[in-house]
Amino acid sequence: MAKCDLCGQKIQTTFLNKIIGTFVKDKEGKQKVVCSDCQRKHKDIKSQF
Ligand SMILES: [Zn+2]
Repeated sequence: MAKCDLCGQKIQTTFLNKIIGTFVKDKEGKQKVVCSDCQRKHKDIKSQF
């Protein structure tokens, strides 16, 4: 199961195996996963990495 790269919480998935959250690329182009809570908390999510 995916874990949020910001808060470390497990990210739930839908029955279609889609994550409830979002994917973000950091400055080096690495893919990060962010849960919906953190997505809501941080308006500019990319600046967190
Ligand atoms: Zn999170």
